[in-house]
Amino acid sequence: MPETIEEKCLLKGVKLTDQRKIIAQVMSQSSDHPDVDELYNRVSKIDSKISIATVYRTVKLFEESGILAKHEFKGGKARYEELNEGHHDHLIDVKSGEIIEFVDEEIEKLQKKVAEKYGYKLVDHKLELYGIKKNPNIWNKKFLSKHSVVKWMSMTQTEYMIL
Ligand SMILES: [Zn+2]
Repeated sequence: MPETIEEKCLLKGVKLTDQRKIIAQVMSQSSDHPDVDELYNRVSKIDSKISIATVYRTVKLFEESGILAKHEFKGGKARYEELNEGHHDHLIDVKSGEIIEFVDEEIEKLQKKVAEKYGYKLVDHKLELYGIKKNPNIWNKKFLSKHSVVKWMSMTQTEYMIL
């Protein structure tokens, strides 16, 4: 199975120019479902001559070639990820836009059960959860990169010491 977007393009006969190659490489390294603006920020750090229009066109080409998946999450810009065989659902942080990927066997089973109840065989599904972090300061990635958090359990609750 091809590993990178570049390899997938080769396999599918999608022509890669130097600029498209950079976009493919950056997208392969992005696991956070970037939108086009964010992708443009990243590629322009490597090659400042790449225009946002090129990023748009390339992403669209990759999407049409079945290499990227486009997600239209509620209240935001279209975001992209590599289209892989593995299925997962998304939990979207409505404040930061951060996306958590998850698979929950119980939910998977339940969805099949619902379809069957109505006389259907489930062939696909899309589940999006939208949430707000209960304790944004502690689990924020940017915060964690700057601080060390020491966790310990007391008799009554879990506590955190921030250094
Ligand atoms: Zn995803």
